[in-house]
Amino acid sequence: MAEDKDRFDYDYVIIGSGFGGSVSALRLSEKGYKVLVVEKGKWYKKEDFPKTNWDLKKWLWLPPFKMFGILKMTILRHVTIISGVGVGGGSLVYANTLPIPKSEFFNSGNWKGLTDWEAELKPHYAVAEKMLGATENPKFYDSDIALQKVAQQMGRSNKFEAPKVSVFFGRSDVEVKDPFFNGEGPDRVGCNFCGQCMTGCPNNAKNSLDKNYLYLAQNKGAKIIAEKLVTSVKPIDHKNSNKGYIVDFKDATSYFNKGLGTVKTKGVIFSGGVLGTVRLMLNMKSKKILPNLSEDVGNHIRTNNENLSLITTRDKDLDLSKGIAIGSIFSPDDDGHVEAVRYGAGSNFWKILIIPMVFGKNVFIRIFQLLKELIFHPSVWIGNYLRKDYAKRTVILLFMQHLDSTIKFKKGWFNLSSKVTSGSKPTPFIPMAKTLADKVAKEINGNAFMMSTDIIFGSPSTAHILGGSVIGKDSSKGVIDTEQKVFGYENMYVCDGSAISANPGVNPSLSITAMTERAMSFIPSKNI
Ligand SMILES: Cc1cc2nc3c(=O)[nH]c(=O)nc-3n(C[C@H](O)[C@H](O)[C@H](O)COP(=O)(O)OP(=O)(O)OC[C@H]3O[C@@H](n4cnc5c(N)ncnc54)[C@H](O)[C@@H]3O)c2cc1C
Ligand code: SF4
Repeated sequence: MAEDKDRFDYDYVIIGSGFGGSVSALRLSEKGYKVLVVEKGKWYKKEDFPKTNWDLKKWLWLPPFKMFGILKMTILRHVTIISGVGVGGGSLVYANTLPIPKSEFFNSGNWKGLTDWEAELKPHYAVAEKMLGATENPKFYDSDIALQKVAQQMGRSNKFEAPKVSVFFGRSDVEVKDPFFNGEGPDRVGCNFCGQCMTGCPNNAKNSLDKNYLYLAQNKGAKIIAEKLVTSVKPIDHKNSNKGYIVDFKDATSYFNKGLGTVKTKGVIFSGGVLGTVRLMLNMKSKKILPNLSEDVGNHIRTNNENLSLITTRDKDLDLSKGIAIGSIFSPDDDGHVEAVRYGAGSNFWKILIIPMVFGKNVFIRIFQLLKELIFHPSVWIGNYLRKDYAKRTVILLFMQHLDSTIKFKKGWFNLSSKVTSGSKPTPFIPMAKTLADKVAKEINGNAFMMSTDIIFGSPSTAHILGGSVIGKDSSKGVIDTEQKVFGYENMYVCDGSAISANPGVNPSLSITAMTERAMSFIPSKNI
């Protein structure tokens, strides 16, 4: 690689700075490579985050309306997706929870049997936990206690537990020297359980990626540029991808594209998350810029088969916003588990998007049920919109299950379009989720609601969109090989949620981190 210095601006360009991108940035920099991370979102510091999710300009990513916040909502036919945007990707908005999936994940889906995934990934999960500072939530608050009582009623107290989370639980009133990386990381302050993790931690307590992987990568020389959207990756020589790539990007936060840029690089890591990576790859394939990409790009997309229900209490003594974003986990049966989730006090935005929880086979039955609710219980429905302390009175139940079904993303006219490819269509109407919502509602003297998109379109909302450039035996079965190298191209990798090749049934960020750690371990150090 000695003469590469003259031919290339960088050894690796990493597209996106979420979990996969950040791990890649650190490990490649440590191996002596010259690394550029390109991120379309903004670089948020703790003081920049919105105080509540009513500050839409700082919370939502909607560039046509000049809103450059940290959360993006993408409504497709079969699923509504929420995802993170900004330096640190999903870690800025995520709820910190880092579970290791059950064995089934490692032995199912597209990667089944290609290696002993569970054994091979075990040491990488351990490194991922250490790097992200995974530690058990030390304190339960009202939402967790309600869920714990439901677990008792269902005779499964032993299946209720505190999750491991990426939060620093030191003193909340003193800044201390880096407690995680022998002083090489940034100074930190302990968590004060304000519940604001999903609008960005204002207290420097959440271990988002800018506090670990990205921070350390920068110290090792990696360059990170924010507010630039990668639009194209093309081989310098179409007959020999070993000769590197030209990566084009444009300004992501300005209408006038003052910031067009091009760099030459030996290697590329796709880490834009499912929406970013799959969209870019589908574009590159359809324009014949990367024609060798597998026909499987956009296939095998999974959710965690989730249901989100929001339970609002009438009891003024409860404060359901206190605690960390996800304070507890409970497995009500062998397939699924539910987490008690909260937003910080004042983050009341969701109340305008929810309607009473009703189940029904088709939209007409559900609308009929909703009308019944409106006629017989108008105060429940209307009272909810008038409520000033909505976040304080609301616990969100996030139910996930291992059952598998897949969808496919294709290029649509304006956005991606989706199609069901295996199993049944993802649905928010999961009987166990309703049972749990009803029980928690009874426990806290409240009412259960769901997202209006879920009830009207019958498609679930998910924060865990996965797959789309999955691992396969060859290019007819997947987009990447078992080392996450893209079939058909040299020095090109996919390291993000789109490489997840089965349904983890649990929150995926730890798995994305561990898989990227493993993928990076196969890349040799730079031979200078
Ligand atoms: C509200 C919420 C709560 C969540 N809670 C949890 C939780 O508790 N535990 C858990 O495990 N997971 C959680 N998740 C899911 C988690 O955030 C994602 O699974 C994870 O972030 C995905 O990681 P990734 O590496 O695939 O990419 P991401 O983290 O999604 O990062 C991709 C980055 O790439 C950027 N990008 C995309 N395309 C381009 C492009 N063309 N050019 C430049 N940049 C680009 C994006 O802006 C983004 O910053 C949550 C998600 C949300 C939205
Ligand atoms: S609860 Fe508050 S202080 Fe603790 S990590 Fe979340 S946002 Fe930060």
